Amino acid sequence: MPELPEVETIVRDLRDRIIDKKIKDAEVLLPRIVKTRNFCNTIIGNKLKRVERVGKMLVFELERGGYMIVHLKMTGQLIYHQKKQVIAGGHSERKDEPSNMPNKWTRVIFRFSDNSKLFFNDLRTFGYIKIVNGMGLAEASATYGLEPFSKEFNLNNFKKIFKNRKTTIKALLLNQKLIAGLGNIYVDEVLFAAGVLPDRRVDALKEAEIKKIYSKINPILTNAIKNRGTTFNNYVDPQGKKGGMKRRLKVYGRTGKKCVNCGNIIMKRKIAGRGTHYCLECQK
Ligand SMILES: [Zn+2]
Repeated sequence: MPELPEVETIVRDLRDRIIDKKIKDAEVLLPRIVKTRNFCNTIIGNKLKRVERVGKMLVFELERGGYMIVHLKMTGQLIYHQKKQVIAGGHSERKDEPSNMPNKWTRVIFRFSDNSKLFFNDLRTFGYIKIVNGMGLAEASATYGLEPFSKEFNLNNFKKIFKNRKTTIKALLLNQKLIAGLGNIYVDEVLFAAGVLPDRRVDALKEAEIKKIYSKINPILTNAIKNRGTTFNNYVDPQGKKGGMKRRLKVYGRTGKKCVNCGNIIMKRKIAGRGTHYCLECQK
């Protein structure tokens, strides 16, 4: 699933390209992806005024009022075509060639007045698009907890999410209602950097450990955004250019390989229902 850095990367890419372009046409190929009735009527002739990220959602402000929310969920992708330029973001699965759209996983197509196109592709179809008003946006945003790059994200508020919790630290950091945007990859990376084992119970963590975890979150996310994310594929030319974060990951996806710090073997086991990577030497 795309996490905060992957969604932030596509938001930034799209912001430069689709803002203030009139939507000439919209085509829904799989109706259940779109959770709003008369979607095409609302969207055709409208303009996207702004695009922001809230947790893992993309939020497009519409010129005629309201917002279009896009959630990529497990396997959603957004692919933008403008002449020969192709920008693709979201899930990494490459059953398709981003320059060759639409394909059988294309669920919604937007066509802009300059003839550029935005494709919403989704293999497993858990993703969705809907149009909401201000209150609907507030409701959707309220399902997300602390936002890592907001001013509310301070140590004090971070400590609060631990209160009365008896779960593992892995489960706590994955919980979007408590902290927004982290998923399996970056939770493993944060806990490795903090030296804390993912199966530790949060009510047994020391103050210094909580502080360490907190201090690693934004630097790791910032670095991931700088490298355009992990699962992100970006094509600015026909040769393509991939998200550069994957080879920089220290534990995620490195099962059986040597720890970059101590040379021990990286382990993997299911914690909080997710395949979790860690080093028994570096993490306590
Ligand atoms: Zn190690």
